[in-house]
Amino acid sequence: VKKDARNTYRFHTSDMERGLREQLMMESSLHHALDNGELMIHYQPKVNFSTGAVAGVEALVRWNHPVLGQVPPASFIPIAEENGCIDAIGMWVLEQACAQARKWQELSLPLLCVSVNLSARQFQQPRLAEQVGQVLRDTGLVPSCLELEITESTVMQDTEAAITALQSLKRLGVVLSVDDFGTGYSSLSCLKRFPIDVLKIDRSFVSDVTHDTNDAAITRAIIALAHGLDLAVVAEGVETLEQALFLQANGCDEMQGYYFSRPVLPDELADMLRADPVA
Ligand code: C2E
Ligand code: CA
Ligand code: CA
Ligand code: CA
Repeated sequence: VKKDARNTYRFHTSDMERGLREQLMMESSLHHALDNGELMIHYQPKVNFSTGAVAGVEALVRWNHPVLGQVPPASFIPIAEENGCIDAIGMWVLEQACAQARKWQELSLPLLCVSVNLSARQFQQPRLAEQVGQVLRDTGLVPSCLELEITESTVMQDTEAAITALQSLKRLGVVLSVDDFGTGYSSLSCLKRFPIDVLKIDRSFVSDVTHDTNDAAITRAIIALAHGLDLAVVAEGVETLEQALFLQANGCDEMQGYYFSRPVLPDELADMLRADPVA
C-alpha cells in the first residue's frame, strides 16, 4: 500500500471542500435562522470577588442548525457581520437579554445585570443608541442593569467616532465595557477619553496567568491601569481555582469562567441563584 502524497492531498481537498460547503450552508441559512427559531441565548454568570455573589450575566448567542448542529458564535457572527444579518440578530439578542433580566428581577432574584456583546457593525450604526433606548423602554429594564461589551479592536478602529458613539450610549445610563482587552492596540490617551466603566481582561492572558510570568505581569498591569483610570476589571475565561486566587490577590473585581459556571439556559441560572443564598 502506497501511503503517498496523493492521499494526503485528497484528504486536504475533501476537508477543505467540507469546510467550504459548511460555510456556504451557513451563509445561505443564517438569513432564516431567526425566523425559524434556531437561535438561542445562554447566560454565563459573573462573580464579584469581594462578596462571592453573582454580579451579572453575559448573554452569549448560539445557533442550532438543523443540519450542522450547534454552530459556535465565533463561526457565524463574522458571517452575520459580512452579510448584514447581525443587525437583526444583534437587536434580537438585546431584546431577549433585557426581557430576560426583567423576568429574573420579577422573580425576586437579585438585581441581575445583563451584558450584551456588540459587534463592530452594530457599534458603527448611527441609530444604535436610539434603538438601545427603545429596548430599555419597551422591556422596562433599569438602564444601569444593562452592560454593553465592545471589543478593544472595535473601539480603537476610529477613536473619534468611538468616543461620540460611546457618549451617546453612556447618556442612556448603561454600563460600557471594553472586551478582550489586551489583544488589540490601545492608545492609553484614548482610553482616558472613553466614557467607559469596565475593562475585561482577555482569556488568553488569564489561561496562563499562573504559569507564564509575562501573562502574570500583563494581567497585573491591566488591573493597575484600570483601577488608575477608575474602571472596574473583569477577568474572563477563569477555569481553575489557582487562576481565581491569583486574580483575587491582585485586586480583580469580577471574574467569569468555567470554574464558576459554563453559559447556561435561563432556567438553570435561576436555579443556581436560588440555590446560592449569597447571590
Ligand atoms: P467573548 O465575548 O469574549 O465571550 C467569551 C467566550 O468565552 C464565550 O464563548 C464563552 O462561552 C467562552 N468562555 C467563558 N468562560 C470560559 C472558560 O472558562 N474557558 C474557555 N475556554 N472559554 C470560556 P462563545 O459563547 O463561544 O462566544 C464566542 C464569541 O462570540 C464571544 O466572545 C463574542 O465575541 C461572540 N458573541 C457571542 N454572542 C454574541 C452576540 O450576541 N453578539 C455578538 N456581536 N457577538 C457575540
Ligand atoms: Ca464578551
Ligand atoms: Ca471577551
Ligand atoms: Ca475573548
